[in-house]
Amino acid sequence: MSLDMIYNELIIEHSRNSENRGPLAEKTHHEHGHNPNCGDDIELELNIENGKIKEAAFVGSGCAISMASTSMMIDLIKGNTIEDAQEKVEAFLELIKNERAQEDVEALLGDATLLSNIQHMPARVKCAVLAWHTLKHVLETKEADD
Ligand SMILES: [Zn+2]
Repeated sequence: MSLDMIYNELIIEHSRNSENRGPLAEKTHHEHGHNPNCGDDIELELNIENGKIKEAAFVGSGCAISMASTSMMIDLIKGNTIEDAQEKVEAFLELIKNERAQEDVEALLGDATLLSNIQHMPARVKCAVLAWHTLKHVLETKEADD
């Protein structure tokens, strides 16, 4: 199986995953993310308690890449401290911008590192980073609240 096929299967599998779909019963933070280039539209919901992301989910719709990336991100940040989640967001955004090598962030990001293939499709980069930028915004605003 070629890397492209693995990549495509992974995207499809994650985009269909309904486990990370909200709405959450209890949420402390939520943020809207929109990518007008493609029409991806998500509402990220978080339940943050004592500096930890207890629960995370999203509602919304979009292309397979945006949905897969959002779902992978939620898998990665559930149960994390704010600091750990921020570290992952930074690592992912740097990976996509080609500022960090895939091997470098694999331990932190797991399967999500495969999304670095998106660099070869510039029009889709915004689909891949939508959820991560949305989360980044929540975490930064949250720090300002504290
Ligand atoms: Zn998209």
